[in-house]
Amino acid sequence: MSNPPVIGVLALQGDVREHLIALAAADAVARPVRRPEELAEVDALVIPGGESTTMSKLAVLFGMLEPLRERVRAGMPVYGTCAGMIMLADKLLDGRDDQETLGGIDMIVRRNAFGRQNESFEAKIDFAGIAGGPVEGVFIRAPWVESVGASAEVLATYDGHTVAVRQGNVLATSFHPELTGDDRVHAYFVDMVRAAL
Ligand code: GLN
Repeated sequence: MSNPPVIGVLALQGDVREHLIALAAADAVARPVRRPEELAEVDALVIPGGESTTMSKLAVLFGMLEPLRERVRAGMPVYGTCAGMIMLADKLLDGRDDQETLGGIDMIVRRNAFGRQNESFEAKIDFAGIAGGPVEGVFIRAPWVESVGASAEVLATYDGHTVAVRQGNVLATSFHPELTGDDRVHAYFVDMVRAAL
């Protein structure tokens, strides 16, 4: 196999370590990314789960907002889970007034959408393009996708709501595969990254 891709995990806040482990299990070289110089050295990026309002604030504070937007615009593969999905939304509902997103997927995401009814739950999710049966979806105060534009592809739904979306090199899930020990979604992303290199 060719050289493993180098995939960063945005390490401003959130469940960074779990993603580093899942990416390594999916045969990528994984490293934390906090600064623009570190971002410049990776082939792709994962934006973890956590708290999107804090992540947005820290991205501004660390001078990462524009470098991140720039790389996403330039086609860098990115995968966002939960708060990471929120960061990749072109439009956000129920965010804080000063909350910034990077954009990347033509979708409208509603923050804490599942959270109001059900703080946290797990469900089996059929994921288009992933073989071997449904993946376990861990939802923690999770967002859902209210609508997607024509160039975005819905990969999974739960209870009538879109919970996984891909647009070109950008992937987002409402749930947290990094918490399950099942690395198939990370392997799917690593394949996306290899195809883009
Ligand atoms: N509710 C969180 C937010 O708004 C996301 C939760 C998560 O990432 N598990 O950012």
